[in-house]
Amino acid sequence: MGTVSHLECSETGERYEPGEVHGLSSAGSPLLVCYDLDVVADRLNRETLRHRREGLWRYHELLPVQKPDNRVSLGEVVTPLVPLGRLAPEGNVVVKDESRLPTGSFKARGLAVAVAMAKELGIGHLAIPTNGNAGAALAAYAARAGLRSTVFCAASTPAVNVAEAARHGATVHRVDGAIDECGRLVRDGVDTHGWFDCSTLKEPYRIEGKKTIGLELAEQRGWKLPDVIVYPTGGGTGLIGMWKAFAELEAMGWVDSKRPRMAVVQAAGCAPLVRAWQRGERHAERWPDPLTVAAGIAVPAAIGDFLVLDAVRASGGFAMAVDDHDILAARDKLAETEGLLVCPEGAATYAAYRHAVETGQIAPSDDVVLFNTASALKYPLAIRPSPHES
Ligand SMILES: *Cc1c(COP(=O)(O)O)cnc(C)c1O
Repeated sequence: MGTVSHLECSETGERYEPGEVHGLSSAGSPLLVCYDLDVVADRLNRETLRHRREGLWRYHELLPVQKPDNRVSLGEVVTPLVPLGRLAPEGNVVVKDESRLPTGSFKARGLAVAVAMAKELGIGHLAIPTNGNAGAALAAYAARAGLRSTVFCAASTPAVNVAEAARHGATVHRVDGAIDECGRLVRDGVDTHGWFDCSTLKEPYRIEGKKTIGLELAEQRGWKLPDVIVYPTGGGTGLIGMWKAFAELEAMGWVDSKRPRMAVVQAAGCAPLVRAWQRGERHAERWPDPLTVAAGIAVPAAIGDFLVLDAVRASGGFAMAVDDHDILAARDKLAETEGLLVCPEGAATYAAYRHAVETGQIAPSDDVVLFNTASALKYPLAIRPSPHES
């Protein structure tokens, strides 16, 4: 017996049966997976977890896939928390380095679980809109699971990601537009070709995979959550996922009720959630022409905007935009001072951290988790001088 009790509309609370194919709710909102947490707590405790193999499937009682054979894996690891050294000598600022996951980005988490569920539900052909990493991860996990995949790449997608998805056997299309335009093409194909839409939050299971960031972070830190989490936010699945993880862990009595302050970081060239946060709104207006080196967070409109903003507000967090110049300067600083060459999205979290310390939104003594969400080597790197100096 599985541990999922039902699915629930994140807007209206309407309930849906587990074990069936689902997209959005009838209200057009993301569905969230709900577990029978008493059953989970009966089967799993913090001590048994210690003896399990590393990787996200160690939390399978808190994931929707029932049959072990469907748990498609490419050797996921527990990603390390690397403390900053000279840039934060107290050791209270750590980078969770997600670049160590298969396909070199944390999109592996969401897509491992989404593909595994697709396999369990008998779905044969998956499609996705992407700025790069999601398409590559879908293609890889679909190949692993023996499923077909079609990937629509936004104009800003780094060339290496386009090639990466294609090498994994996906049918790849480059689109002269942003990721939401790619999303429309996927939707058309759902009607005409019967594809299954794996867009962020339009199927319920990628978020469950991303939730494992929060489970892992809690476990790695001895079930004590940090003061602040600084997250490079595009569609927001990772942030929503962590927030959900903390609620589930608290319900099982594994962490206390103290939540980290959740800080959303976006690029100044595409900051719809920051603008909505500043205006006190719950839904973000579409950002007209996204332009940033941080392709992974160039999302002009996010269907889960209200879930991100609710978590930021409930946690006493904040949302901040950083410009590309600061992102690239932060990247070079981390690389030169710490030996950590991070992706632009990851660099954005450090740039935002520095700024937030200056403005007093983060205290220098706070325990802070930053993220490196993908390998820097997936992005074009200039040889010298660094672009931020020119
Ligand atoms: C997708 C992506 C993000 C944003 O993740 P969301 O959870 O969808 O907001 C950040 N960084 C990189 C490198 C990404 O590929």
